[in-house]
Amino acid sequence: QVGDKKYKRILLKLSGEALMGDQGFGIDPAVLDRMALEIGQLVGIGVQVGLVVGGGNIYRGAALSEAGLDRVTGDHMGMLATVMNALALRDALERSNISSRVMSAIPMSGVVEHYDRRAAMRYMEQGNVVIFSAGTGNPFFTTDSAACLRGIEVDAEIVLKATKVDGIYSADPVKDPTATRYDWLSYDEVLANKLGVMDLTAICLCEDHDMPIRVFKMDKPGALLNIVVGSSEGTLVSR
Ligand code: UDP
Repeated sequence: QVGDKKYKRILLKLSGEALMGDQGFGIDPAVLDRMALEIGQLVGIGVQVGLVVGGGNIYRGAALSEAGLDRVTGDHMGMLATVMNALALRDALERSNISSRVMSAIPMSGVVEHYDRRAAMRYMEQGNVVIFSAGTGNPFFTTDSAACLRGIEVDAEIVLKATKVDGIYSADPVKDPTATRYDWLSYDEVLANKLGVMDLTAICLCEDHDMPIRVFKMDKPGALLNIVVGSSEGTLVSR
């Protein structure tokens, strides 16, 4: 089975919103368990998994800033929110007997390890899922950019972005019934058409470093495993 797989090392980006399920805020433990199961299937066939988790289910700097907070303070709160999500994900993974490590871009001694690229790669080689938290550690960035950055840094073969829709559409499929889904797009097409699937900083970074991105629907059971063994799901963005 291991010989069939397409990817040896992937970087999976989970948004904070994906963790809240049908609730409007916070973390739904049932969703965490289902994600742990899907991620465990990858680990089970020997795929090395890095995870970047968002924080939008708790705080987003831009929204806090609209509510009157200082933007940088809001971004710090957003980054701390991703650490909370990472801890919850680690807990779910460990309960499913999947060894995992949380690293943070912001040092948080006694809670999680500080990000260290070589240590992260070593952990993944040893079969641990490594959860990269606190984004890039800098305000004004997003966890999409963090996912692309970490993916490139740790030599992942692809960044997989889990979303609510099953790929990139020509328009918002919820609002426009004529919207069609792309199987493939170049970075330039995403940038030129401002297809709001990932922030543009993240797309530019991937283009510069030739890192493919696949956008897919995590809610679809088995989609993640399908991608890793080479079937087509969602939309691929590449050169
Ligand atoms: N954030 C940041 N720098 C980063 C990553 C994230 O300041 O490198 C902050 C930012 O305020 C962001 C919040 O953390 O709104 C949560 O991340 P994001 O919005 O990307 O989460 P997601 O939408 O994936 O849940």
